[in-house]
Amino acid sequence: MAILDVENLEVTFSKGAEKVHAVRGVSFAVKQGESYGIVGESGSGKSTVLRAICGLAPRTAGTIRVDGEALILPLTSAFYRQVQMVFQDPYASLHPRHTVDRVLSEPLAIHGFDDRENRVDRALEDVGLGQGFRFRYPHQLSGGQRQRVAIARALILEPSILLLDEPTSALDASIQAEVLNLLDRLRGERGLTYVMVSHDLSVVAHMCERLLVMQHGLAVEEMTREDLQARRAKEPYTQSLLSATLGYRADEKEKTE
Ligand code: ADP
Ligand code: MG
Repeated sequence: MAILDVENLEVTFSKGAEKVHAVRGVSFAVKQGESYGIVGESGSGKSTVLRAICGLAPRTAGTIRVDGEALILPLTSAFYRQVQMVFQDPYASLHPRHTVDRVLSEPLAIHGFDDRENRVDRALEDVGLGQGFRFRYPHQLSGGQRQRVAIARALILEPSILLLDEPTSALDASIQAEVLNLLDRLRGERGLTYVMVSHDLSVVAHMCERLLVMQHGLAVEEMTREDLQARRAKEPYTQSLLSATLGYRADEKEKTE
């Protein structure tokens, strides 16, 4: 059974009289422990799919199941114990006047965890930040360190599913590789399930076992990592996406590792 099952998801935004049909009947299923990618050009609806899963975008139709159970809005605190999201921009996602300690302690307090001190310490260690970072403010951290704090915050409730929205695209290439390696290691150690959105096919080829290609709110094609690496695309849109981005990026990535 899939740990996450998205069936015929539709999302429509209303801007006054205008309607934006951002997601048009998207379905996919992610297995326990799998890393599943969503790729597509800017505006294709990738972020909206993730946001709809965790209740941040309006689901106008479709069913989302976690562990076989259909999600009903508003989402419960049990859902957020199980599913957490990491956003693209680590500058926007951390409150500028909250210390790292507060960022990490608050979810623990809200969800009634005991032993908070130790959990915060461990969370920082787990993402490669020591005790010295605990009482810093976001402006005292680099972009990569901020994203590590955001990952620590997402993991502190010990969820089983992480939704990752372009988690490294705001970072320099060398820092990108470090954060991706961290995410990869954490998934292995904890048996986490990832859904990772990226416009960068080489990132998805590195991180994900299967992926969904989106265009204009539609699911164009589902592929395995092997299909992607061998450039075995069925749909003309995917073929053009591959030839536009993968060759050049794949070479560039090897140099930075
Ligand atoms: P991607 O992540 O693939 O770049 P998005 O999911 O962010 O794409 O956006 C898909 C479409 O939905 C775009 O046309 C975007 O302008 C629109 N959209 C996203 N969020 C909102 C919103 N809150 N209100 C109105 N339109 C939105
Ligand atoms: Mg996006």
